[in-house]
Amino acid sequence: MNYFDFIREVPDFPRKGISFKDITPLLQNPKALQGAKKALLELLKDKQIDKVVGMESRGFFFGPMLAEQLNAGFVPVRKKGKLPYSTISENYDLEYGQDVLEIHADGIQKGDRVLVHDDVLATGGTASAVCRLIERLGGEVVQCNFLLELQFLSGRDKLIGYEVASLMQY
Ligand code: 5GP
Repeated sequence: MNYFDFIREVPDFPRKGISFKDITPLLQNPKALQGAKKALLELLKDKQIDKVVGMESRGFFFGPMLAEQLNAGFVPVRKKGKLPYSTISENYDLEYGQDVLEIHADGIQKGDRVLVHDDVLATGGTASAVCRLIERLGGEVVQCNFLLELQFLSGRDKLIGYEVASLMQY
């Protein structure tokens, strides 16, 4: 299946000059949705996983589906102030300024083998902050996988030392 057919490029969203990759056409199509889920699992090559960590908010679409298939738990990472229980946090760089990501302190146990999932790898700032959160809690990042990678933004440079996989590359 050509998954690129299900990605809509929206010019000037959320700001002028940005061509936003909209994954909602893929989510809306049952065959594309199931196919993409299977293809993401194939990228993992049967590695054993205890937890899938998905980033707010588009990591929440496939994250729990992957967790269910892998017999793993799902752990959300959210923006500051959204998670109700004890958290740890990491700063990460945005195009202008910084933001904060949080995870529940009991979301990862020491030794957990973790799959990190998000829809898009852009500059890599988000995913690298998530990897730091997981490692501070004693987890091992087995793979970071993405539906889509914007190669011109070199996100992999922020994820050196981690296995990185993506279904589509732009
Ligand atoms: P990064 O931290 O790698 O620069 O940005 C990745 C985060 O921004 C992801 O959580 C992703 O959801 C979001 N993002 C950045 N650009 C796009 C885009 O073009 N399309 C979508 N769907 N998400 C994007």
